[in-house]
Amino acid sequence: MRTIGHFIGGREVEGQSGRFADVFIPMTGEVGAKVALASAAEVRAAVENAKAAQPAWGATNPQRRARVLMKFLELVQRDFDSLAELLAREHGKTIPDARGDIQRGLEVVEFACGVPHLMKGEYTEGAGPGIDVYSMRQPLGVVAGITPFNFPAMIPMWKFAPAIACGNAFILKPSERDPSVPMRLAELMIEAGLPEGILNVVNGDKEAVDAILDDPDIMAVGFVGSSSIAEYIYSRGSSNGKRVQCFGGAKNHMIIMPDADLDQAVDALIGAGYGSAGERCMAISVAVPVGQVTAERLVEKLVPRVESLKIGPSTDTTADYGPLVTKAHLEKVKAYVELGIQEGAKLLVDGRNFTLQGYENGFYMGGCLFDHVTPGMRIYKEEIFGPVLSIVRAHNYEEALRLPSEHQYGNGVAIFTRDGDAARDFAAKVNVGMVGINVPIPVPIAYYTFGGWKRSGFGDLNQHGPDSIRFYTKTKTVTSRWPSGVKEGAEFVIPTMN
Ligand code: NAD
Repeated sequence: MRTIGHFIGGREVEGQSGRFADVFIPMTGEVGAKVALASAAEVRAAVENAKAAQPAWGATNPQRRARVLMKFLELVQRDFDSLAELLAREHGKTIPDARGDIQRGLEVVEFACGVPHLMKGEYTEGAGPGIDVYSMRQPLGVVAGITPFNFPAMIPMWKFAPAIACGNAFILKPSERDPSVPMRLAELMIEAGLPEGILNVVNGDKEAVDAILDDPDIMAVGFVGSSSIAEYIYSRGSSNGKRVQCFGGAKNHMIIMPDADLDQAVDALIGAGYGSAGERCMAISVAVPVGQVTAERLVEKLVPRVESLKIGPSTDTTADYGPLVTKAHLEKVKAYVELGIQEGAKLLVDGRNFTLQGYENGFYMGGCLFDHVTPGMRIYKEEIFGPVLSIVRAHNYEEALRLPSEHQYGNGVAIFTRDGDAARDFAAKVNVGMVGINVPIPVPIAYYTFGGWKRSGFGDLNQHGPDSIRFYTKTKTVTSRWPSGVKEGAEFVIPTMN
């Protein structure tokens, strides 16, 4: 059995705690590896390592730091196929979808390559008599990221690329369910020229997370995962004086206005609702048709599409989606479907008994579709995180606007319409952090920022884009007054950054 340790000081090291977790291959249901779960002492050792390495990296000029990321982009391109396969094997998503997971991470690495420009401060000449004022952004020191299972390449890159570009050392605690890709990314960063100790990976569970939250040398923590853990991490980390940003769960609605192109809306719902088996924080899990006629037409078109979804092993490049991540998660999703029936929702398509020939032990589930879901039901209020779509019928636009606005989660939302006025009004008024207009999954591109509202996000600054530079740096402002007069001789060689 393969064991996965930690990545500290530029190489993989064995776990010392004696505790391990199973890493499954969801498409077959087998255990593919055992991952070491770090003790508090192992986390501390990683932090010491990072702390020793950080000052030299922080003092390296930002162009050189960016060049490491540029080389890393090249190396990931070289290894793209093997990374996507490894990712699909441990997560369960299909290989084409795994490629997207990697690509959306690389786009943030590309953004972080602009760090020499992004970290520039401000300058005011003559703020007073003979006085100039300027500000500079400096790295925080050692920072950490705690990431979820569902994007094992993208989210680690969203965290470590801006942090490291800014001159910090980074401790990554990836999900214990699919740790191999994060380990491989750390190796590639070292191959790209990153000094040892600037990116350390500690695998683990609550013990490792708590050690990160309590460590006095970790200055900031970025978290992505479920909301209850996000809230816990936010409160414990911030009460220990750290900067903390935590992104949580979601219940993303898609409003279908009576004038929407219904074929387009159905395509969007199928892809955004069932892609990656619904295990995306930006998946659409609630469809809100506006008006009786829209609802009837939508249901008529949607049912056959859900019934004919192609579910296959992660290696089947023609499959719409693959297995869920673990047996425990599969059971949880099925339990929600049972709950929905008990709560009185109408199950139009039941995918619970789906099995795949030759892969009988894999964690598969067919698509499920509920109609007549109401805001009081738990299947509406809670995140299911599986291939289950709920239809909540709205009588009019105002009611449709109210549903996502009043929901406890506020990650993403979409409206499908041909009416620019309605779309504009919706975007302005809806109480949700990321909005799509005829776009079902409005994940902002890398140079904008990503973040949900309400119980989908704790803390003030978003992920990637300009907010990530603010999050991973502190601002120092200098006020200076100099006696006038030239002090130095002329310099004849053009100054360079080498
Ligand atoms: P999770 O909350 O179970 O785990 C996330 C991380 O927290 C992991 O690294 C895990 O080891 C750690 N963790 C788990 N339990 C812990 C505990 N009791 N104490 C301390 N740490 C603990 O989430 P998951 O199942 O890996 O990921 C799915 C969730 O992540 C969904 O809710 C999804 O919506 C959310 N998510 C949100 C975003 C976003 O940007 N808002 C993006 C992706 C996923």
